[in-house]
Amino acid sequence: MLEELLPDIFRITIPLPGHPLRTVNSYIITSKERNLIVDTGWNRFDCAEILLDGLAELGINLSRTDVFLTHIHADHAGLIDLFAKHHAKIFCGQADIEYIDHFINTSADKNWPTLRSLAASHGFSPEEMSAGIEAHSGNRYNPSHTSNLFPIKDQDKIIIGNHTFSCIATPGHTLGHTCLYDPARKILFPGDHLLGQLSPTLSQWSLDGKCLAHYLTSLETLADYTVDLVLPGHWEEFLHFRVRLKETLAFHHERNAEILELLSDGKARNAYQLSAALSWNQKHGEWIFFPITRKWSAVADTIAHLCYLRDQNLVTMKPNQQEVTWGLASS
Ligand SMILES: [Zn+2]
Repeated sequence: MLEELLPDIFRITIPLPGHPLRTVNSYIITSKERNLIVDTGWNRFDCAEILLDGLAELGINLSRTDVFLTHIHADHAGLIDLFAKHHAKIFCGQADIEYIDHFINTSADKNWPTLRSLAASHGFSPEEMSAGIEAHSGNRYNPSHTSNLFPIKDQDKIIIGNHTFSCIATPGHTLGHTCLYDPARKILFPGDHLLGQLSPTLSQWSLDGKCLAHYLTSLETLADYTVDLVLPGHWEEFLHFRVRLKETLAFHHERNAEILELLSDGKARNAYQLSAALSWNQKHGEWIFFPITRKWSAVADTIAHLCYLRDQNLVTMKPNQQEVTWGLASS
């Protein structure tokens, strides 16, 4: 579906069949010189068809079009090949370029052995782990190539027609996550960093990651900006930027408190067991009925919170070769 939001900003809503977020937004910023597409969609024929149909309806010349990726997740970056073959520059945060480059081009990690062993150590059974990797959208709908990726960093500028957009590095949801900001019109494209409903999940499997610390710092960074219109990666645009910043910060502090409360019974548990006991905004009811993709993202989000709490000396981690368990730090 193509919608005009402003005379030079359009949105194409691309379905994500079977995904709990349902759709992803691709924004088209047009000008007489070059156009910029903010995020794409899964690398699937039906997603490509909707995106290309919308661009054709707008009369977009692909040879005068670049792409800005808020981050490298498959629902945002999957269709970059469509534009790279027309010599588009694909702007993306450096850390996300390194991630996707490793993912696509490192044959030693093809079948995800590292992630498999991490998922097992956090409590996934072999059956659920295989199902989780099989269903993972990064496994199914990533772009096929990494050509034309052009690294961007905080405060880089991208000029489209009469408008100069700023890149704002917002690591957390991914390490290279970057927002795009139009300071003249006070419009923010926050990708998945800030949504109108729900808090985006964090995805951390490694025990030395600091996703939540990065994410909270990035929320504070955004508070320095004046924003009148938010055009997020999923769902409708919204105006209550400061309210959503506060609510999202509060959500993570409440989640940390919920984990500490669970662990206060003194029983050590792995991240899978803790996730099963936490509250989730989930239409499927109890944990056992969650789709595997939902369990997968929930456990990765819980690990991000546990590592944050460990770094605050509030929980302790007991890793052994088979399993990582967590308990309350003794005061
Ligand atoms: Zn994402």
